[in-house]
Amino acid sequence: MAQRVTLIPGDGIGPELAEATRRVLDASGVAFEWEVVEAGEAVIGEYGTPLPDHVLDSIRRNRVAVKGPITTPVGAGFRSVNVALRQALNLYANVRPARSMKGVHSRYDDVDLVIVRENTEDLYAGIEHMVGRDAAESIKIITREASVRIARYAFEYAVANGRRKVTAVHKANIMKLSDGLFLDSCRAVAADYEGRIEFEDRIVDNMCMQLVQKPELYDVLVLPNLYGDIVSDLAAGLVGGLGVAPGANIGTEAAVFEAVHGSAPKYAGQNKANPTALILSGVLLLRHIGRPDAAERVETALRDVVAEGRTVTYDLGGSAGTSQFADAIVERLAVSPVAAS
Ligand code: NAD
Repeated sequence: MAQRVTLIPGDGIGPELAEATRRVLDASGVAFEWEVVEAGEAVIGEYGTPLPDHVLDSIRRNRVAVKGPITTPVGAGFRSVNVALRQALNLYANVRPARSMKGVHSRYDDVDLVIVRENTEDLYAGIEHMVGRDAAESIKIITREASVRIARYAFEYAVANGRRKVTAVHKANIMKLSDGLFLDSCRAVAADYEGRIEFEDRIVDNMCMQLVQKPELYDVLVLPNLYGDIVSDLAAGLVGGLGVAPGANIGTEAAVFEAVHGSAPKYAGQNKANPTALILSGVLLLRHIGRPDAAERVETALRDVVAEGRTVTYDLGGSAGTSQFADAIVERLAVSPVAAS
């Protein structure tokens, strides 16, 4: 039976990248049935909201989605559809691997990090209000339940993926209550994995410096939402930039796979943006649905095309368009076909 997947093309560079990803996944040997639904500013006129109920219903039904980036207006305007989606579906774990790729220029060639970011609370929930005219207050909520849940996810991820160490990242020296609770929760969970998975913690500012100086010392990082957002872009920078950084938003009922990057409006419609990040998010989807064989084939084909460097996008030093890059991956997958299932 075909695997049904909700596809949200998004806006800006999203639709081009979504199309490239769909074509590559269709060539993976897994039979997919795509349910395409739209979200973002363009649908507000028709549905009165950038995130209509039928989009959420589709994801709940199919349990997996591939999502292109969606623009969020800065300052005034509607709230982030990306954040609303994570909250509505309780996608509590944001997993962002950052792994060096041959052929992608960066300062390091041996980075292999996995960022596990709490995805539902913290300052990133955007609970804020004005206090009079000249002050604004943002509320940082950290709960034991969400902290234990994300720590457990990070350790289980480490066990399932043969990783050696989990590092909890925080600012508990200053935010003793909120980040202190996060750190305590991580420590409590770590005790259950003693002897199997190493555990340590780092203060977030020091963590950033250490990642820039010696990223090879780190493995799986677990962070509250806001630090996770920032440190995962840093980690993307260590392996060549946003064009190659994939992500997965995981919940108990559904999972949404999307790149770390945004909608890069200045490149929209130009067949220019790099589809690697969204295709690698598709690789995470293949693993999630229990098809590590297909995931491995797609990742190998992608890595081979990137390492060759002949058919890659501008950010990787090439001149190929988004669609030509996808063509090259599809052609490579066709060389070693597997039975469709
Ligand atoms: P961005 O990630 O869209 O772009 C920053 C720069 O990174 C681009 O100008 C471009 O030079 C480069 N870049 C990003 N993706 C690339 C790709 N695939 N190939 C090649 N180069 C790429 O960040 P931004 O400009 O801060 O945000 C633009 C919009 O995207 C904002 O409205 C923001 O809210 C939104 N956003 C959405 C998501 C999401 O949908 N999950 C995530 C982040 C940002």
